[in-house]
Amino acid sequence: MVQRPILPAGPQPRRGSRRVMVGRVAIGGGAPVVVQSMTNTDTADVFATAMQCAELARAGSEIVRVTVNTREAAAAVPQIRERLAAMNIEVPLVGDFHFNGHKLLTEVPACAEALAKLRINPGNVGKGARRDEQFAQIVDIACKHGKPVRIGVNWGSLDQALLARIMDDNAKRAEPKDATGIMHEAMVASALESAARAEELGLPLDAIVLSCKMSGVQDLIAVYRDLAARCDYPLHLGLTEAGMGSKGIVASTAALAVLLQEGIGDTIRVSLTPEPNGDRTREVVVAQEILQTLGLRAFVPLVAACPGCGRTTSTSFQELAQDIQAYVRAQMPAWQLARVGVENMTLAVMGCVVNGPGESKHASLGISLPGNGEEPVAPVYADGERITTLRGDNIAAEFKNIIDDYVARRYPARSAI
Ligand code: SF4
Repeated sequence: MVQRPILPAGPQPRRGSRRVMVGRVAIGGGAPVVVQSMTNTDTADVFATAMQCAELARAGSEIVRVTVNTREAAAAVPQIRERLAAMNIEVPLVGDFHFNGHKLLTEVPACAEALAKLRINPGNVGKGARRDEQFAQIVDIACKHGKPVRIGVNWGSLDQALLARIMDDNAKRAEPKDATGIMHEAMVASALESAARAEELGLPLDAIVLSCKMSGVQDLIAVYRDLAARCDYPLHLGLTEAGMGSKGIVASTAALAVLLQEGIGDTIRVSLTPEPNGDRTREVVVAQEILQTLGLRAFVPLVAACPGCGRTTSTSFQELAQDIQAYVRAQMPAWQLARVGVENMTLAVMGCVVNGPGESKHASLGISLPGNGEEPVAPVYADGERITTLRGDNIAAEFKNIIDDYVARRYPARSAI
């Protein structure tokens, strides 16, 4: 019989990495995995971009990246920073530069000053001899302003000269790699060689973050495992072009969960394509849920709910689960300011007596609604004990009151600490 290795339960220890400060936010070096996001407004539109940065920050994004693609966009960055300061929002801003970053940062030094980090893509810094010169120019600006740099390789814009060199080398090998292996090797080489070059140019060791984004889940996992084994730069994880809706969420979660579970990844972004005029903060919520579901961080109380079945032919329990989920998210900013540890609370909203009482007893607070043919009562449990039974038409409001009481009773006031 084949003996399978018994894997340790829970996330593996975080991979050792250097710590990079992005504004006041630490990435790597044992810091909690940071959630970041990116705006999709025209950065030159100061009002729209500042408002979206504020929305993303309020949703929990700890770093927000903005496109800086034109002189107008570069000039807008300090104004966006000022508007955010006026709203008491300190979220660090990262500038995303392609093709003309050297020029924009030189012409608008206030842009570099207002940013907390620069993101450059080695495949889009420039071509031929100009590439090295323009790369050096950006690194020089980062050094002068004391800003860290993310060297963000993307397989859609991989450095073609480097890819050609690796293909030539591969052809001379006794056992050449296949096309996928070459692509993986080129991604990692692009990141590591660019980081080494940045260090030679004077960028401090604790000012470099790496990423190698790909759109295939297995590709991403393979590349990051290799990258993690070969360097101690903090790693920004993300599946690029993840897609829309459930496809994007599932693909991102599948890739990030494997790597995070292995201790790989210091900051994450979930690149979801929103519906037209959809809510950009969805990517922040999903990133938080990935980290919280893996047990790596806690952001907001998790609501467990059963899927429902033939025992729950009415929609009342789905409505209650949705209502409670929305309620705790809405209350969380106020709770977090007032109470310590409330993000660790767990809630259960269950549809019938089969699993309802059991699941409810495992949660901080749980409610089990009556299924078909059951007595029309909803027992409520707190820390494993039945504390009351709700009935009638006002169950949702009464359960919210019970949640509020539990938070006030169970989590100490910040002012008392
Ligand atoms: S707890 Fe009850 S209602 Fe919910 S899925 Fe299980 S059997 Fe169905």
